[in-house]
Amino acid sequence: MDIGFIGLGNMGQPMARRLIEAGHKLIVYDTRNDAVAPLVALGAKLASSPQDVADRVETVMASLPSLQISEKVATGEGGVIHGKRIKRFIDLSTTGSRVAAKIAAALAKNNIVQIDSPVSGGVGGANKGTLAVMVSGPKADIDVVKDALAVFGKVFVIGDKPGMAQTMKLANNFLSATAMAATAEAVALGVKAGLDAAVMIDVINAGSGRSTASDGKFPQAILPRTFNYGFATALMLKDVRLCVAEARALDVPNHVMSAVLDQWELTNTEFGGDSDFTAIVKMIERRAGVVVGKKP
Ligand code: NAD
Repeated sequence: MDIGFIGLGNMGQPMARRLIEAGHKLIVYDTRNDAVAPLVALGAKLASSPQDVADRVETVMASLPSLQISEKVATGEGGVIHGKRIKRFIDLSTTGSRVAAKIAAALAKNNIVQIDSPVSGGVGGANKGTLAVMVSGPKADIDVVKDALAVFGKVFVIGDKPGMAQTMKLANNFLSATAMAATAEAVALGVKAGLDAAVMIDVINAGSGRSTASDGKFPQAILPRTFNYGFATALMLKDVRLCVAEARALDVPNHVMSAVLDQWELTNTEFGGDSDFTAIVKMIERRAGVVVGKKP
C-alpha cells in the first residue's frame, strides 16, 4: 500500500526500510536530510512537510521524539491534519494516553482517524521485525493497516479507545526502565565487593534476576563500554515521567515508579538527554566509585 512515514530516526529508519522491503510504496519526511537520504536511495519519494505527505497518501505513520513534536506534526501548522488525502494517522511514537486522545479528538474534526501504535523492542527489534506493536483505535481502520504493521513485529490490538495502547507501552517501559536501574545497582554492588561484572551478568542470565537489561543491554553496550544501545536518555525519561503521571492520574500506587524516575532524572541532568540511556550505569558508577566491565 501507499504509506507516508514521518520521522526517520533510530526507530523510524529501520521500520520504513522494512516497509519498502515488504513492497509498500513510501513517501517520507524528516527535518534532517541525512535521515531521509537512505530511504530515498531505496526508492522512497521525498515530501516537503507533514502536510505534503498527507496530501499524497491515505495512511500516514510517524515515529517522533517528543509529545510536542507529535502534536505539531499531527495538528499544527503544516501538519497532517491539513492534508487532502489522509484518512488515518498512525502514531508509532510514545506520547502517553492523554496526548494520544488529544490528537485523536483534533483529527476527528477533519474525519481523520488516529491509531496509536507505540512499539517496544528497541532498534534491534526494529531492524529484525521483532517489535511488540501495540495498537488502539477503531477496528475498521486497524484492519486496513494490520498487515503493514505486522512488518514491524507482533501486532497486539489493545482496545478501541485512543490512548489504550499508550498505557500498555508505558507499563512495559516502566518495567524496562526499572530493570536497567536495578541491574545497574546490583552489578555496582557486586563489583565493589570484588566480583567480576561479566561473571555476574552470566549468573543473572542463568538465574532469576534475568531481564532485558541483563541479557541485552549489559552484554551489548555496557560491559564493552560502548554505551550505544540506540535509545536516548531523554526518551526513557519521557516514558517514565509519563508513566508516573498516568499512575497519579489513576490514583495507583507509584512508589517504585517514582524511585526509578529519580534515577533517570539524575542521569539526564548529569549526562544530558542525548546520551544513550545506558548512561544510567555511569551515574551509578560515579556514586559507587567503581567501573563496571572493561576499564575505559
Ligand atoms: P530519534 O530521535 O532517533 O528519531 C526521531 C526522528 O524524528 C529524527 O530523525 C528527527 O529528525 C525527526 N523529527 C524531529 N522533529 C521532526 C519534525 N517536526 N518533523 C519530522 N521529523 C522530525 O527517536 P527514536 O529513538 O527513533 O524514537 C522515536 C519514537 O519511538 C519515540 O517516541 C520513542 O520514545 C519511541 N521508541 C524508541 C525506541 C528506541 O529504542 N529508540 C524504542 C521504542 C519506542
